[in-house]
Amino acid sequence: MTRTVSESSESLLNPVATVDQGIDGRGLFLHPRERNGTGLWNQIFPISRSHFDSGEVAEGEAMAAVPLPPPPLLASHAAVRAAASAVCRSRRARRAGDQPPQVAALLRGDWVKLICGASFEDAADVRNLSLVYTLAGVDCIDCAADASVVGAVNEGIDVAASIIPAVQRPWVMVSVNDDCRDLHFRKAEFDPEDCPPDCSKPCEKVCPADAISLESVMVGEHTQSDPLHGKFKGGVLTERCYGCGRCLPVCPYDRIRAVSYVRDPTTTSELLKRNDVDAIEIHTTGKGTDTFNTLWNSLRESISNVKLVAVSMPDIGESTVDFMNALYAIMEPHIQGYNLWQLDGRPMSGDIGRGATRETVSFAVHMASVSERPPGFYQLAGGTNSYTVDCLKKAGLFRSTTFPGTATSEMIGSQQTLIGGIAYGGYARKV
Ligand code: SF4
Ligand code: SF4
Repeated sequence: MTRTVSESSESLLNPVATVDQGIDGRGLFLHPRERNGTGLWNQIFPISRSHFDSGEVAEGEAMAAVPLPPPPLLASHAAVRAAASAVCRSRRARRAGDQPPQVAALLRGDWVKLICGASFEDAADVRNLSLVYTLAGVDCIDCAADASVVGAVNEGIDVAASIIPAVQRPWVMVSVNDDCRDLHFRKAEFDPEDCPPDCSKPCEKVCPADAISLESVMVGEHTQSDPLHGKFKGGVLTERCYGCGRCLPVCPYDRIRAVSYVRDPTTTSELLKRNDVDAIEIHTTGKGTDTFNTLWNSLRESISNVKLVAVSMPDIGESTVDFMNALYAIMEPHIQGYNLWQLDGRPMSGDIGRGATRETVSFAVHMASVSERPPGFYQLAGGTNSYTVDCLKKAGLFRSTTFPGTATSEMIGSQQTLIGGIAYGGYARKV
């Protein structure tokens, strides 16, 4: 028997639309870039970036402290509450069996993950995104493997729960890499003093994260109308840069470089022991299992603390399934919860245009065509946006399929959707 995912799954699969409705239809939320203004957004999100920047609340201090209670809700907040409560009720009504709601969503095929960004470390924005997408009903929030960022995610969830006590707490997932070749783990860098003072700053304009800020300052007695005697101050705001790379090719003077890094496994192990971290995602490039094996061995003691282990990787062609099975063989003796494969199509591109979603859907089609794929849930990422569900439908994958007989399928029954859900990154962060 195959189960067709209903139309209501489709709406649950796009919480961005729920949030957009709030912004566009009802005027409930202001654009986050106006978050320091006087609108509802600012009232819902009482700690804004200005608190951190001004030193009014030290970042670490704010994250470690018990979250501030939100301000009293205004009459207009009732609509926010009504919309979020409706999402809660819909989620609850669709639950069946004893699985955690997140697993039930994966089984139905309407799991949604918010990707804050493996390298995005702006605590104020991460908190606000976590708050609004918890209200919108996401199942998981994926963030940088950094204690302050994890604290910010949990604070956003706590504030959402104080607005809607019955809200489903999303799982909190930390993202790490096994080597420095994964594009999600890099930061742009340049020295603004090396920039020609008359540069039109295309880097600043192209950055989707507002992570480049440059100010012209005059040197000596000269004035603004004399740009050749000025210089730039500022540069990349490291905590906001998530490594998309769009600034690199637009610099006419080739001043920007990308600096890659690997998350420290010891720090990751400590994070996995926290009660407020539920899942881990390991990004691997598919270029060999050695680095994955090394990372896995260093996390082995703490991996049993999490409910879900995700592996994110690109489609590497004919060897993809063999590579995945080799990774599964490394993980299988130690996984005590669930495992998930993130099919990373075109990384960090969902906000560029509708067509960006094709690669992840093609990856899903590839996986659907092979029977010997490894056990676990499968989820799309990399280029996901408002077009993804339509693309899945066109590919005939927006419905359940028989799952190969595996340990996981024995645990959950013999039927499940092939594609358990969708993760949204840049597209979700645009709200
Ligand atoms: S890499 Fe992307 S996020 Fe980072 S500064 Fe460049 S454009 Fe902005
Ligand atoms: S585009 Fe290049 S040269 Fe121009 S301001 Fe940006 S980094 Fe500097």
